[in-house]
Amino acid sequence: MEFESVIGLEIHTQLKTKTKIFCGCSTSFGAPSNTCVCPVCLGMPGVLPVLNKKVVDYALQLGIATNCTISKKNRFARKNYFYPDLPKGYQISQYELPIAENGYLDIEIKGRKKRIGITRIHMEEDAGKLIHDPDRNMSLVDFNRTGVPLLEIVSEPDLSSAAEAEVYLKKMRSILRYLGISDGNMEEGSFRCDANISIRPVGAKTLGTRAELKNLNSFKHVENSIYFEINRQKELLSENKEVVQETRLWDSDKNITCSMRGKEDAHDYRYFPDPDLSPLVIDD
Ligand code: ADP
Ligand code: ZN
Ligand code: MG
Repeated sequence: MEFESVIGLEIHTQLKTKTKIFCGCSTSFGAPSNTCVCPVCLGMPGVLPVLNKKVVDYALQLGIATNCTISKKNRFARKNYFYPDLPKGYQISQYELPIAENGYLDIEIKGRKKRIGITRIHMEEDAGKLIHDPDRNMSLVDFNRTGVPLLEIVSEPDLSSAAEAEVYLKKMRSILRYLGISDGNMEEGSFRCDANISIRPVGAKTLGTRAELKNLNSFKHVENSIYFEINRQKELLSENKEVVQETRLWDSDKNITCSMRGKEDAHDYRYFPDPDLSPLVIDD
């Protein structure tokens, strides 16, 4: 049987604002650990977030540049999960009312034009950074990154090869840079990507079960991991085995993807509107 691959990308890009999304702390990269922090971004009890207007301006610019419909009514939501890099125990994000939806980006590959749908773009805050020290058998956490503004850009599953994914990512990055709203630096982690991949028999209408790849911090890793994952899934199906819906990690030393955890569903996060932030209404 002939298979075709289906790919959808989630991009997280840090915005080049001077200060964080809900407090006045600096976003500067490379400052000594835990020096750009305050009670708000450390999640102390009793503090209140205040939205940075620049983040909204930047999100609107990208929404317009990618042909999206701008949602005039916006709301922030709490995405609840426990992890040591998330001091509040939830991430402030957008859920049912993202700032921009239903756009597209036209890419060109081997002289052929292709339109890639943009499902949604939403504003959220970054988490802290864990630094694992195997010599001392401990992990350290740097909260300078908690509260740095991010845009999450979710594509439709319209990409069909590693090469297309790369062209799409590079075009998105050049738009972000042209607008001057993000560095788009993959190595420093200001532009990150998760790749969702499935395969299906050529011509099939329904989508296959997807695996989500994380830890792709260079274009080379994006390309190699997608290539590996497509072949892994093809082998499974041709042996009559099933693809499991899960999150997989790219191991760039061994050049393989390996299972990290079962894929969580939206209901696992117990999303609800953040009561500390008022709804955001954007005028014409
Ligand atoms: P989640 O947070 O669960 O990953 P998102 O909606 O943020 O959900 O992202 C899902 C991504 O996966 C989108 O880019 C979408 O296009 C892609 N996707 C969804 N289903 C499939 C599939 N069967 N095969 C490939 N990509 C898929
Ligand atoms: Zn702060
Ligand atoms: Mg995902």
